[in-house]
Amino acid sequence: MLSKLRLAIRNDLEAEAEQRTFGSGWLSGVLALVLGGSALLMLLAHHYPAWFSVEDLKRVHDSPFYMVGVQAMAFVAFGLACLNLTLRRNKILGFSAIALVLLTMTLGAIGAQTIPGEGIGFGVDWFVLNLLMKGLLFVPLEKLFSGNKPQPLFRYEWREDLLYFLISSLLIQIMAFISLAPSLAVLEHAALWQPLRDAVASQPYVVQFIELMLIADLMQYGFHRLFHSVPFLWRFHAVHHSAQAMDWMAGSRMHLFEILALRGVTIIPLYALGFEENALYGYIFFIYLVSAFVHANIRFDDRWIAPFIVTPRFHHWHHGIEKEAIDVNFAVHFPWIDRLFGTYYLPDDKWPSGYGIGGHPVPKGWLEQFAYPFRRGKPNPPAS
Ligand SMILES: [Zn+2]
Ligand SMILES: [Zn+2]
Repeated sequence: MLSKLRLAIRNDLEAEAEQRTFGSGWLSGVLALVLGGSALLMLLAHHYPAWFSVEDLKRVHDSPFYMVGVQAMAFVAFGLACLNLTLRRNKILGFSAIALVLLTMTLGAIGAQTIPGEGIGFGVDWFVLNLLMKGLLFVPLEKLFSGNKPQPLFRYEWREDLLYFLISSLLIQIMAFISLAPSLAVLEHAALWQPLRDAVASQPYVVQFIELMLIADLMQYGFHRLFHSVPFLWRFHAVHHSAQAMDWMAGSRMHLFEILALRGVTIIPLYALGFEENALYGYIFFIYLVSAFVHANIRFDDRWIAPFIVTPRFHHWHHGIEKEAIDVNFAVHFPWIDRLFGTYYLPDDKWPSGYGIGGHPVPKGWLEQFAYPFRRGKPNPPAS
């Protein structure tokens, strides 16, 4: 029953282009479903914060606008669902959205109070905010700037990437806790270089921000290259490169252990050098957006800026299926780091013809991919 419903929803989300035109009720159905689901999850996080909310979003929950926002989302979802039911013959999206709104109302009625207690703190609220924020920003941009390669929103393997997006959002607090451990161990000795830390923190915000970009990118460059050149590490990173469709969500496809290792190491100097907290957190937020941006299907004439800053086309070449795209363009902010180390590849105006690893050795599915690096067998040779 549930799998039939899932399939029916999926079929309508992935409908042919002529059934997705403006006025077909498709867009209202998708928006109703997203907003209905968001309202339900945000309410769940609000009532059971110990389990479904992250500490850093406490201020958002305390705001008097939080519940107004949840109610507004449910209200708009209901309106859009009605529009879908009126316009569209296939009414699965509208009815599902109404079911979500009803569930939200029921939960609102029965769980009128916040339930305290101990829990793990899954980032349910962070998942919704992250999805809405990036979706609102990148979906229109990809629609406007997809050049001659437009791509449906629910493209090849979108469910797999959404699952990656969901899991890494849910685990954000736990992952932050683990990946901060090495930095905190280093910080215990920070008194030894306190004068340097004071000097770093006293610089203007903009200078600190640029330094953060520079240091993080240099660290990331070295680490990223290591993951390409050591066969055992490559099997973790191959999961990221298994994406055959690129958009703002494709970058979420990353093995959990790679995220932990990458964050745990690259963040050490950022903490150790004593950057001011606002600059550091500002940068962490910025890198969230940058990683979505460089994977996005946003195509514009980037020749004027591509030599100075990483553009989507630069990182798409890192994922390209072509031979020339193997082991190039490791940087995430500054392309000249790749020039410096001889790994730069950016042919004028051209985009890769496809994405992924030659022969596509990585299995499908989150669990299969989680187990992939640990499976016996000859490691695949590092490729792009
Ligand atoms: Zn890579
Ligand atoms: Zn990537």
